[in-house]
Amino acid sequence: MPVQTENLQAKLESVQERILRAAERARRDPAQVLLLAVTKVFPAGVIQDGYELGLRDFGENYIQEFETKAPQVRSLPGARFHLIGHLQSNKSRRGVELFDVIQTVDSAKLAKRLNEAGKPIDVMLEVKLSPEEAKSGASPSELPDLIAAVRALPNLRLLGLMTMPPWSREPEASRPFFRQLRELADQHGCRQLSMGMSNDFEVAIEEGSTCVRIGTALFGKRQKV
Ligand SMILES: *Cc1c(COP(=O)(O)O)cnc(C)c1O
Repeated sequence: MPVQTENLQAKLESVQERILRAAERARRDPAQVLLLAVTKVFPAGVIQDGYELGLRDFGENYIQEFETKAPQVRSLPGARFHLIGHLQSNKSRRGVELFDVIQTVDSAKLAKRLNEAGKPIDVMLEVKLSPEEAKSGASPSELPDLIAAVRALPNLRLLGLMTMPPWSREPEASRPFFRQLRELADQHGCRQLSMGMSNDFEVAIEEGSTCVRIGTALFGKRQKV
């Protein structure tokens, strides 16, 4: 096995072990927590390596970047690709062609455009829970209308909610945001929760995450883009 793959295998085993332990602490079934491997910035070969080690769900942030990798990985049997970066509505058709899940729907306009692509697509709604920064996402007050709009669109299947708290070195700082997302999901009858990244995924699992999006803890530090 090449050194790099061996390294990935060790990191993957460690992340899986940590997911198990966090689920155990929360008395949850670990099978209810999807490990989404975030491969943005890394070449297509990294997706292939992850696939060989059993990973099936991959997260990418940019349409343009994934367009260059897709020819090498799109036909891997059972692999699913999730868009976790912001999607401009003028790229929605391309998004539906390239991805199996769009986790970042944040406006009725984008939802409508995705529906018009004419192909069934799984979606999650990105919720912005902190007012700071120019981060994308619908605010909690916009959520009821957005959920109603998405549920009325025949090609969109609403899986649940997604969020990204402000970055902090301290994992516990994310807990109130995760808890708030879970409360919103409960209020609106949404079942899945995409929350938790390399530095705070255990806290997210304790708060009910069903999808942890992990890049750095599996693949190491990314080059700045
Ligand atoms: C990059 C990214 C991740 C992965 O972050 P890590 O800290 O490397 O695990 C997860 N979610 C989103 C939305 C991202 O953009």
